[in-house]
Amino acid sequence: MLRTHYVAQLKPEMENRRVKIAGWLHEVRNIGKISFMQVRDHTGIAQVTAKLGDVGEEIIKSTSMPKESVIAVTGIVKRNPQSKSGFEIIPEKILNLNPLEDRIPFDVTSKVPAELDVRLNYRHIDLRRLETTSVFNIESTVLSTFRGILLKQKFQEMRTPTIVDEATEGGAELFGVKYFEKTVYLAQSPQLYKQLAVIGGMDKVFMVLPVFRAEKFDTPFHLNEATQMDIEMGFADHNDAIKVLVKVASGIEAEVIKKNAPDLERLGHKLEKSKPVVVTYKKALQRLNENDHKLEFGNDFSREHETALSELYGDMLVVKEYPTAIRAFYSMPNKKDPEISNSYDLLYKGLEISSGAQRIHISKLLEEQMLKRGMNPKNFEFYLTAFKQGAPPHAGWSIGLERFVMKLSGMQNIREASMFPRDRNRVIP
Ligand code: ATP
Ligand code: MG
Repeated sequence: MLRTHYVAQLKPEMENRRVKIAGWLHEVRNIGKISFMQVRDHTGIAQVTAKLGDVGEEIIKSTSMPKESVIAVTGIVKRNPQSKSGFEIIPEKILNLNPLEDRIPFDVTSKVPAELDVRLNYRHIDLRRLETTSVFNIESTVLSTFRGILLKQKFQEMRTPTIVDEATEGGAELFGVKYFEKTVYLAQSPQLYKQLAVIGGMDKVFMVLPVFRAEKFDTPFHLNEATQMDIEMGFADHNDAIKVLVKVASGIEAEVIKKNAPDLERLGHKLEKSKPVVVTYKKALQRLNENDHKLEFGNDFSREHETALSELYGDMLVVKEYPTAIRAFYSMPNKKDPEISNSYDLLYKGLEISSGAQRIHISKLLEEQMLKRGMNPKNFEFYLTAFKQGAPPHAGWSIGLERFVMKLSGMQNIREASMFPRDRNRVIP
């Protein structure tokens, strides 16, 4: 290996140890006979100090390498209270591993901020900015904690297909794909498949998968390819699924606060534990109207309403029992009042990050809901059949990974939280 340590593993207490670090030349300042080189890997930046009188020709040459050269440094750790980290490395050898052949399109030190579009055009350079690294460190915690909590709760991970027949989806906004002699579609959710798994007796399943939405979005919250973290559970209603949702969302938030403290600090984002609140749609509606945010029963919340709700109820709010008419056709109407459904959303810091529902498991009721929405039950035959063959009551939800990461890391645009975002204008890189 070209390194013995990552930068973040080095400490002043390691004085006089010989170490090897490898990464990129972040900055160089040559002052008189001393060269201060900053060497960066994905964990941090170390100062390499070369006293030009004492070192060989090779190191002197290194001090004039362009920024972002990819290098490996062997040297001795020395305490230095003037350096930010409390130590510096006195180099014995510096290797230029692959001389630059092209200019670096923007300043990785962030001293001169670059436009998001330019950063995304060169995401491999943007990822060298430690702020960007931190966003994806947070994403990694979200994914591993999601899996960890659910495995502990005896959920099982499963896979669902990306290629689907039109008849498996309810919505119109699908991307068509040529598939031999016919056109098929990219899945906009794993909905029907995770239900089939539960009807098959899997009982508690989860999955992480890409979903595709063919809408001409023009917001900072929508991508055309997003990542969903889903669950589905058998013999359960919406209140059972909400409990799991709150456990997962709070657990992920707590883990990011703990594990990604250095990342949050680097991003200048203060993240604190939120207090989860569950409220019915009707109560939330009443509260909004009392506070001069007019809305009538039967309407979905706008962006402004979502912001107002987070001011009224806090950062982690589950709104449940939305009007049946504005939810997906498979949402179970409430027994006491079929005008409302056993559905729910999770608003995190004022943005919808999750939707879910108890599903309809009675085929007649499902057909009824399809007809009400102008859908043709004939197109859903295989799906409807499953509900005639012993389907238990079940419920589930889906969290949008990029939206959650965006909010956890304090970003304003969802593209910051997707390593290679897909939107209407971008499919490269
Ligand atoms: P919205 O109304 O905000 O467009 P939605 O209700 O259509 O979202 P759902 O079908 O409920 O979305 O999807 C589940 C979750 O997946 C959402 O709560 C959100 O976090 C995420 N999600 C959905 N669509 C997108 C998208 N286009 N871009 C990014 N994330 C998305
Ligand atoms: Mg939704």
